[in-house]
Amino acid sequence: MKLGTRLIHNKWAQDPYTGGVSIPIHQSVIFAQESLEEVGEYEYTRTGNPTRKALEETIAELEGGRYGFAFASGMAAITAALCLFSAGDHLLVSQDIYGGTYRALTRVFSRFGLEITFVDTTDPDQVAANIKGNTRGLYLETPSNPLMKITDLRTMAALAKARGLITIADNTFMTPYWQRPLELGIDVVVHSATKYLGGHSDCLAGLVITQDARLARELGIVQNTLGAVLAPHECWLILRGIKTLKVRLEQQERTASYLAGWLAGLPEVKSVYYPGLLKHPGREIHFRQASGAGGVLSFRLANAELARRVINNVRLPVIGSSLGAVESIISLPATMSHASLPEDLKERLGITVDLVRLSVGLEEAEDLKKDLERALRELNRFNITLTLE
Ligand SMILES: *Cc1c(COP(=O)(O)O)cnc(C)c1O
Repeated sequence: MKLGTRLIHNKWAQDPYTGGVSIPIHQSVIFAQESLEEVGEYEYTRTGNPTRKALEETIAELEGGRYGFAFASGMAAITAALCLFSAGDHLLVSQDIYGGTYRALTRVFSRFGLEITFVDTTDPDQVAANIKGNTRGLYLETPSNPLMKITDLRTMAALAKARGLITIADNTFMTPYWQRPLELGIDVVVHSATKYLGGHSDCLAGLVITQDARLARELGIVQNTLGAVLAPHECWLILRGIKTLKVRLEQQERTASYLAGWLAGLPEVKSVYYPGLLKHPGREIHFRQASGAGGVLSFRLANAELARRVINNVRLPVIGSSLGAVESIISLPATMSHASLPEDLKERLGITVDLVRLSVGLEEAEDLKKDLERALRELNRFNITLTLE
């Protein structure tokens, strides 16, 4: 069966006890033991909960893994994955990762003795050159956020395997519907399920998936010990979101491609970053490891004032830091999602105040285009832009 079908027909398509096609929300913290000696499958919800198990096994199946873990947020999931390392370990990390991950590494894990080097993971030579004696891991995000740079997951996995490094990939932007890093040799996949998997901006959630029994044992200990588990009701919301993943993603990709092509032809737009564009660097690598271009695009405007005004003038996209939802979301990464990156790094990477990120929702493509066009045209009243058409 294709993945689109398995989103609906997977191990947890039905409740094994009642046949219900929606998995029950087991809103219980304790599960009574038969006797002092007889402990059932569940005891205490931090350790295990039937609704959480359904989500964890579903995402493991979809990602092509064996073990899944659900957390209270994407950041809690990423924290758990980073807990696979110890003080004194050195980690190589993609340069333009999610701002929160950057902050976790530089503000928190650095205090616990994790040594971090940020590298351009689109360049395998640069990655290889930065491996040291104490390097233990490689943390990747592809497409990167917000510049959509493409890292070759197969090459990175092979490079890491040869040196015994643990590879972690944040698959939030692609979801397993389009990209399955474990099948390309990556050890651990992390997700902010808050985004596409949930899909409705109503639930914060994170997931970790692996095929490796040893890593799974460690992750299970971290999950149960640190306790940032996903609550039963939120597990149910993510399970429900997953069922419509295919139709949402495909619609969002169609609209994103249409808007990316249109934006690329505008005089006010200096560049568009979207893996679906023919001239996108890394496009070829992207489509060797993923089957869709995604629903997020970024574009650089002629100047910062123009970027600010477009964001303030659009009516349909919500101004917000999130992505992957039914409503379109527009943002200025430099001051929003990536605010925690140091100014000189942002400058060097090109995450500057002229760069706008758009997460395309389920609105009609024509309405979004008209809205963006109007937002750009209104600028003419302020004599800021070139004219359109
Ligand atoms: C949002 C996001 C996160 C963090 O997830 P939360 O659910 O907000 O904690 C991590 N990685 C990426 C790529 C994200 O977009």
